[in-house]
Amino acid sequence: MQLVFDCPKCLNTAAVAVEETTSAVDCPNCSWSRTIGPADRVQGSPQRCLVCGCDDLWRQKDFPILLGLVMVGTGVISSSIAIYYYQPVLSMVILMGFALIDMLLFLVMPDCLVCYRCHARFRGTGVVNPDHHPKFDLELNERYRQEAARLQGAPPSASHPST
Ligand SMILES: [Zn+2]
Ligand SMILES: [Zn+2]
Repeated sequence: MQLVFDCPKCLNTAAVAVEETTSAVDCPNCSWSRTIGPADRVQGSPQRCLVCGCDDLWRQKDFPILLGLVMVGTGVISSSIAIYYYQPVLSMVILMGFALIDMLLFLVMPDCLVCYRCHARFRGTGVVNPDHHPKFDLELNERYRQEAARLQGAPPSASHPST
């Protein structure tokens, strides 16, 4: 499993490999480290965020946004060229062909997990239980966003609840 996260200490973005035997997440740029507990993952798949301990992770397709945009763009341009040459049927076939490839790619793309609180990304997590990690929930995300805003607005002397 690959983990991409923003280090809570040095704030650098780090990518680390987490195997079944890995006992802690370490920042490669500073001394930050967090021990992975036995309850943190089940069969190699994270149950909660391994960086901040947040219980809520959302599941999404590990689909590069750029690839999706390029696909859509290529489809639209080629179908426009077909229309320019008075080939409406060909234009439709091109558009539908690209939509189909998009759909197939989406189906075979693996899931990745994203933490609501710290936005750490877990890739190659293996089989993900859809009940434990549902798809993105806007309401839940709003709750974490407001929590983050509150923490940022709080004076530095405020005591943070220890995790
Ligand atoms: Zn760091
Ligand atoms: Zn997190």
